[in-house]
Amino acid sequence: MNHCKTIAIVNQKGGVGKTTSTVNLGVGLAKAGNRVLLVDDDPQNSLTICLGTSNPDNDLDTTLATAMYAEIQDEPVPWEDAIIHNSEGVDLLPANIELSGVELSLFNAMSREQVLKSVLNRVKDRYDYILIDCMTSLGLMTVNALVAADSVIIPSQPNFLSTKGLNLLIRTISRVRRQINPRLKIDGILMTMVDSRTNNAQKIIASLRSTVGGSIRVFDTEIPRSVRAAEASGVGKSIFAFDSKGKVAQAYANLTKEVMELAKESDRSRPDSAR
Ligand code: ADP
Ligand code: MG
Repeated sequence: MNHCKTIAIVNQKGGVGKTTSTVNLGVGLAKAGNRVLLVDDDPQNSLTICLGTSNPDNDLDTTLATAMYAEIQDEPVPWEDAIIHNSEGVDLLPANIELSGVELSLFNAMSREQVLKSVLNRVKDRYDYILIDCMTSLGLMTVNALVAADSVIIPSQPNFLSTKGLNLLIRTISRVRRQINPRLKIDGILMTMVDSRTNNAQKIIASLRSTVGGSIRVFDTEIPRSVRAAEASGVGKSIFAFDSKGKVAQAYANLTKEVMELAKESDRSRPDSAR
């Protein structure tokens, strides 16, 4: 039996394709035969909306917030029925506005960085991959995701990529790795919304590959910009269901292969991999 790989999709910058990549990589992994849980770790709940719950504040009583409060208060509240089975083969642990209160409660919680990890540990054995869609911040919620994760994928638009932002993110990841989660790896930087018509994007990507490429992978796959990607989330579908023959679906299928290859590599290098 494979062990479950948990991947945090992180960038403190908004609008870079975190949620879109979580949905499409998640569905890509599920289509490749994996059991997948997507976690909406953002009180703005775009992931929950993207997967078809149009009004999470009204429609959902049990969410990730319920699960995290149960952990914080150390009270066994049943929350597993919060998990929504999506028609495209992924499970979702959804969020709504209640999650915005959780971050405050975390400050006084015991082991406040470990709450999400404890939540996910309860369901981990049912999945091959858990993808955490992080909020646009490097606050305590994101630190919880980094503590729960085995690895990180950093989506970024080429023209949104700032060295300052990337350095800050990498410093946060290194700190979590040193202090709490030594096994945390960076799977790579994923270039999103790449405009093939401008060569400016290609210049930025080439310069990124030559500067950080030695220490941090930049995925071979680049996600092209296409209105189809935005339209798909508007109707609560992945790009595979919405425009299966399009270039964005092809790109996310390629990314899925790269991610599965990385998981295989790290499985092989695990000390207990002789199974
Ligand atoms: P984040 O989660 O980082 O804030 P989103 O995934 O929500 O970013 O994406 C930001 C916006 O860009 C959304 O409106 C989304 O539909 C759109 N978008 C995402 N990927 C693409 C793409 N490949 N091409 C065009 N638009 C995209
Ligand atoms: Mg988002």
